[in-house]
Amino acid sequence: MYGCDKFCTYCIVPYTRGRERSRQPEKIIEEVIDLKNHGYKEVTLLGQNVNAYGRDIGVKFSDLLESVAKTGIERIRFVTSHPWNFTDEMIDVIAKYKNIMPYIHLPIQSGSDEILKRMNRRYTKKEYLELFNKIKNKIPNVAITTDIIVGFPNESEEDFEETLDVVKTCEFDGAYTFIFSPREGTPAARMEDKISMKEKEERLYKLNELVNYYSNKSNQKLLNQEVEVLVLGVSEKDSNKVYGYTDTMKLVNINGPKNIIGKIVRVKITDAKSFSLDGEYIN
Ligand code: SF4
Repeated sequence: MYGCDKFCTYCIVPYTRGRERSRQPEKIIEEVIDLKNHGYKEVTLLGQNVNAYGRDIGVKFSDLLESVAKTGIERIRFVTSHPWNFTDEMIDVIAKYKNIMPYIHLPIQSGSDEILKRMNRRYTKKEYLELFNKIKNKIPNVAITTDIIVGFPNESEEDFEETLDVVKTCEFDGAYTFIFSPREGTPAARMEDKISMKEKEERLYKLNELVNYYSNKSNQKLLNQEVEVLVLGVSEKDSNKVYGYTDTMKLVNINGPKNIIGKIVRVKITDAKSFSLDGEYIN
């Protein structure tokens, strides 16, 4: 699907990409079947706000997801989800089908209700945490990552502490973190901002330390475990190795032959770092 109707106050997407437009489900299914028949192992359903899919054509995203799962393609992913449109039906479908990957990117942006309101995100910290817990409880071994903006106009120290609190509570598998940067023509670009860049940089540093601690902690749980990895190509760091992703979207550099590229193979994890894992191909 294309576009977004959410109008978060910092975001230019609704102005540049326009309103939400969904592709017909039949066309999407046809394409997935064709890809599967050509040997593709993984598809990603893509949209700025992918779980709002279908509202313009009277279709539910959970139904699309289920139909794609029924094609039997081995791996299905979807990005990016807005917490506002994340339904219980979606959670049930993800939990039901093994080929829908247990990985959800669920941007929170801030842990402060005041900032969330000024961002026009349409949920509170409490509502986000309720959704987060529901997903964790219903989908076994799910990995959840997020996006966080620090230094939104006039973000106070207390607001920032709320964000740190969410990170500590959720122990995210990973987070993309950014310093607020004004986009011309958006409401946030016109907001008064008394917070200095130095302060914003310090907050980002502090946030990243915490985020990295939890990604490392989550990766450590995979140490000595056997996992399934879709191997995508030769490792950028070491041309003698190949790399791929686990079902939970963790990057693994693998000691293994080049002929496993394009396949889903079993790998034993031998080292775990904040941003990647090392592993040994199991023949
Ligand atoms: S941040 Fe995401 S949900 Fe919000 S307006 Fe931009 S694309 Fe839409």
